[in-house]
Amino acid sequence: MEIGFIGLGHMGDPMVRNLLKAGKSVRVYDTSAAAIGQAVEQGAAAASSVAELAATADVIITMLPTPAIVRGVIAGPDGVLVHAKAGALVIDCSTSDPRTAVDLEKIGAEHGKTVIDAPVSGGVPGAKAGTLTFMVGGSEPAFEAARPILSAMGKNIVHCGAAGSGQAAKVCNNLLLAVSTIAVSESMCLGVSLGLDPKVLAGIINTSSGRCWVSENYNPYPGVLKEAPASNSFSGGFATDLMIKDLSLALDAAHGTGQPLPMTAISKQLFQMASLQGDGGKDISAIVNMFKNQ
Ligand code: NAD
Repeated sequence: MEIGFIGLGHMGDPMVRNLLKAGKSVRVYDTSAAAIGQAVEQGAAAASSVAELAATADVIITMLPTPAIVRGVIAGPDGVLVHAKAGALVIDCSTSDPRTAVDLEKIGAEHGKTVIDAPVSGGVPGAKAGTLTFMVGGSEPAFEAARPILSAMGKNIVHCGAAGSGQAAKVCNNLLLAVSTIAVSESMCLGVSLGLDPKVLAGIINTSSGRCWVSENYNPYPGVLKEAPASNSFSGGFATDLMIKDLSLALDAAHGTGQPLPMTAISKQLFQMASLQGDGGKDISAIVNMFKNQ
């Protein structure tokens, strides 16, 4: 079985490495020749276009930045669905949006191909360690077909329901990540302003009721966690501009449901201000710079 993998960025590259480690045959494509070169060094085969990759692959995985790019690569005039073999399975692991996922499943079926959404959580560390959580939307048989492949890259493979439900779960999780990154930043900066040692404060929070995933694993205050992006010039994690995209997806998804999202809305504004100040390409923990008083 050949797996085609499109999108070899922060997440896609380590995901491909884990597929190769699991003994899978992988052909890769990216608009960056350097990214293709890196994957080839690890043992992947190269494709020179989406069309070439799709023509021979049995399963095609996409890990791309935005819903518009996902739509173009999968359903565009020279995209995956036009060129893939009949019966091919397309797994979109990008963070897209529920509506795009539902549309792609429908367009896929019209081409005789199956498209499922399988966005991930766990970030770059989870991608490297092969411990990602996959939130899968699609039919039961499609989920079962995808499970052994996703298991080579992740630890928790969860069937969330019909097409689009993986993306729905993902936007719910990510709005919470955004809000808690901002809340931990606010708390840490107040503590430092009041003269507390940031490591002492983080230790208190992590054994108290304010504890959360961000405070424990991704503290945005520089120097608290050695391996966190905040202690490494805010590099190597999840870009602020991608978080702005995810918060926009959550707000868009809520449209027409009557669901209020005040924390999501204010978080998006704050990340947008950080982006305007030049931190768009930095990890989301750079939001702490908006709160630093000294
Ligand atoms: P990235 O920008 O590092 O990588 C995207 C890759 O896609 C790049 O290598 C780029 O060259 C390639 N690309 C762009 N357009 C293309 C096209 N038309 N055809 C082929 N390749 C193309 O992004 P990332 O951080 O790897 O994130 C990928 C997806 O995963 C996003 O949807 C993101 O929201 C999601 N995600 C990221 C993280 C994280 O921590 N970085 C965590 C969970 C989910």
